[in-house]
Amino acid sequence: MAAARMGQPCPGDRIWYRQDWMLHVRCTCGHGASRPVWRWAADGCMDSRRPIWELVARMRCSRCGGKASSTQLTEPERQRR
Ligand SMILES: [Zn+2]
Repeated sequence: MAAARMGQPCPGDRIWYRQDWMLHVRCTCGHGASRPVWRWAADGCMDSRRPIWELVARMRCSRCGGKASSTQLTEPERQRR
């Protein structure tokens, strides 16, 4: 696998490596949520050494129980200068 460019999030990144990033998740039913990666991991009892895609694969919508239809990672606010 090609190495990701610095600063470019990749689903194969480990949770700890992107733990401060905001992960926005949206379901096909329209329900969405945004939380820091570490928060999703804590709620899902996910080991931070696992890749982010595994965390996303485990997610279930709190309204309909469906899988996340789209996800987006954005930089933590405090790093935007
Ligand atoms: Zn849903």
